[in-house]
Amino acid sequence: MKLNFAKRMSSIKASEIREILKVTEQEDVISFAGGLPAPELFPIEEINEVNQIVLKEAGTKALQYTTTEGYAPLREWIAKRMNERLGTLLDKDNILITHGSQQGLDLSGKVFLDEGDVVLCESPTYLAAISAFKSYGCNFIEIPTDEHGMDMNILEDVLSHTGNIKLIYVIPTFQNPTGKTWNLERRRKLAELSAQYNVPVIEDNPYGELRFEGETLPSVKSFDAVGNILCTGSFSKIFCPGFRIGWIAGDKDIIRKYVLVKQGTDLQCNTIAQMVIAEYLKRYDIDKHIGKIVEVYRKRRDVAVKCIECYFPEGIKFTHPEGGLFTWIELPEGISARDILEKCLEKKIAFVPGGSFYPNENKENTFRINYSNMPEEKIKKGLQIIGEVIQEYIHEIK
Ligand code: PMP
Repeated sequence: MKLNFAKRMSSIKASEIREILKVTEQEDVISFAGGLPAPELFPIEEINEVNQIVLKEAGTKALQYTTTEGYAPLREWIAKRMNERLGTLLDKDNILITHGSQQGLDLSGKVFLDEGDVVLCESPTYLAAISAFKSYGCNFIEIPTDEHGMDMNILEDVLSHTGNIKLIYVIPTFQNPTGKTWNLERRRKLAELSAQYNVPVIEDNPYGELRFEGETLPSVKSFDAVGNILCTGSFSKIFCPGFRIGWIAGDKDIIRKYVLVKQGTDLQCNTIAQMVIAEYLKRYDIDKHIGKIVEVYRKRRDVAVKCIECYFPEGIKFTHPEGGLFTWIELPEGISARDILEKCLEKKIAFVPGGSFYPNENKENTFRINYSNMPEEKIKKGLQIIGEVIQEYIHEIK
């Protein structure tokens, strides 16, 4: 018998990345596809040690239900870290621990979006944020970006002419998929516009700690004069993603609403995972650990950028990220990255075509390269092959 699924299921498609990742599970594939951190940098021994300490010292508390808001010492650490690095003024009651920052996005949809509401986002933007918000029946308006971030004139124009705008979703630091970082003026301006038009902002920041060069910039949240801005963060890229521990920070009244919807979703995050992270932060120097990650990724970024310059044909644009995990390639108009991917997969090289990072239009001449998850030799080999495939493709269609 045919079942009647919820209307939202018709808008939910299999993620292209998840499908490509199935191919990349084969050992001999060189994958630029996922956003995976380098597993050799996970602090396994330290986690093992801290895990035992937590079980010994906290005992059954570590295995018991806990509050929805999350483990208080961890929330305190997060508030302090954000205040020191991002210029915010938060305390633990501004923080809700979430199942990765991804849950912060889904709960934002639950808290703010009704069917037919409008979400404004960068064009292109993070694929799984599109899926999370789409399941609440919203429509997207994409706002163009340049190398300094979202175009604030267009944003203001859209804000002043469009009804039903319920959220602005942005990734101002080392954006996924483009690797771009917004400058200070755009951050300040976004906070001003959010206040002026009374539209909340979700500032998604899972990569901000991974800066290879230049100064750390204050968050959009630090310019929040009225309490409209929510900021997500995550331990996925600075510790390990398998714990699925992230957070959302915001005005206390708004965070209380998130707590209510989280109760209906999963009651709370994993107790022992939160305690292990808090204990790790107490016993180890996370900055030293992040320093190691940054050093490895910086070298991989350098190799990736050099290879793109060297092996890709002229006329191809790409971003030069100052941090994070990705660079973004723009092929000449009329060339489909999906066609290039097909040929690359035959040669056991994978990446994600850019089309699915646009919620409305399909710009098919773009693709994303992740450089964090592979040794330098493989990055070189893989990008050389992609470069050759593009050369051949351009030659064939001429
Ligand atoms: N936001 C962005 C922009 C991402 O790229 C990701 C995935 N890496 C997430 C949120 C979710 O990450 P996590 O749930 O592991 O914190």
